[in-house]
Amino acid sequence: VEDAVQEDMARFEETFVGINKRFRLINRIGEGTFSTVYKAEDLEYDKYGNTWDIDERENQKWSSPAQRRRPSRRPHYVAIKKIYVTSSPIRIFNELELLYDLRDSDSVCPLITAFRHLDQVVAVLPYFQHCDFRDYYRDMKISEMRPYFRSLLTALRAVHSKKIIHRDVKPTNFLYNPAQSRGVLVDFGLAEREGTDWHHCLCHVPDEDRRYRASHSVWAQNQAVSHSAPSYPKNDTRNSRRANRAGTRGFRAPEVLLKCTQQTVSIDMWSVGVILLTMLSRRFPFFHSADDIDALLEITTIFGRRKMRETAILHGQVFETNVPSYSEGGHTLEKIILWCTGRTGDKTQPKKELEEDEKEAVQFLYRLLECNPAKRITADEALRHPFLLRTFE
Ligand code: ADP
Ligand code: MG
Repeated sequence: VEDAVQEDMARFEETFVGINKRFRLINRIGEGTFSTVYKAEDLEYDKYGNTWDIDERENQKWSSPAQRRRPSRRPHYVAIKKIYVTSSPIRIFNELELLYDLRDSDSVCPLITAFRHLDQVVAVLPYFQHCDFRDYYRDMKISEMRPYFRSLLTALRAVHSKKIIHRDVKPTNFLYNPAQSRGVLVDFGLAEREGTDWHHCLCHVPDEDRRYRASHSVWAQNQAVSHSAPSYPKNDTRNSRRANRAGTRGFRAPEVLLKCTQQTVSIDMWSVGVILLTMLSRRFPFFHSADDIDALLEITTIFGRRKMRETAILHGQVFETNVPSYSEGGHTLEKIILWCTGRTGDKTQPKKELEEDEKEAVQFLYRLLECNPAKRITADEALRHPFLLRTFE
């Protein structure tokens, strides 16, 4: 362990009086905008008759009653998430409360306990052994993608059934162990319940009504998102619409970018689509926009201008761009994946095609990267999609 990390851990133990009575800090495993995460050993696991150890629970399913009674001798690891004191108390409470609500959900990392010392709050979670996404996404076979998404969508089905939007689905928040074909969803720091803070959005009215209202509403025009490249107006004086934009840029659904004020759990399903696109195209990050407008334009590159205009209208927005390089109709995802993986072919070579199993993955991908949130596949439907139902190759 590096000196700087060693020092940081010592400081943490010093300020958080008593933490080292129960936990032995081992290493720092994560450092983000909102928290620092440490790996530690729970020295009192057996004392409290704990049952949170994920591996142990799994093993016990298969062991005899006699074996089950024996206290385990091996160490039990936890992840201690130190939430920065700069986070608002409401936010911290929100994260802990949602985790508590999700405590029995499959593939969601459970909360063991939480402590507060003065203004410092820590959440304690079972440590989950996983691999860094960057180390495996390039070499994943389609047959290895299936269990990844089965596991991720099992977590999201549970989360969404409680009407909770995770809001930050991305590889660093889904800890996956390829050897075990198992993963857990973590990080509910941005999560929220569907419907809190909703203001009416046109995407929630029937198609007919929307067409009429979109074309007659001055409001819709005022709220326009417009773009005239190469530079867009810096001193835009139009009222800006307020909507939750939390999340990570490249994973934001079009309706988040378009400031829809009635966002639903389906925004997470788009993010799942971006992960699948990353794996199939072997590009990470796939999208790397500088801001929301840029992100919309990246999506336009794929789906074309017509689709983006339709999508904007859905939320009472106007989407305009005069960049000629964005085609009207966009490109197929098959083509994008062939391009990204250097299989485009040329005049001398026959046109290349995706493998059969890749085509099946792309069919599934289309359902995830559906621009209209009402038509996008749900987690429950996804688990019944042929791509994930297939159990043997
Ligand atoms: P943040 O809000 O700062 O992003 P996260 O909850 O996403 O915090 O945790 C940050 C990182 O810490 C994760 O990406 C992961 O690498 C590691 N981590 C978090 N929880 C666990 C866990 N239960 N087991 C193992 N590692 C974890
Ligand atoms: Mg995170």
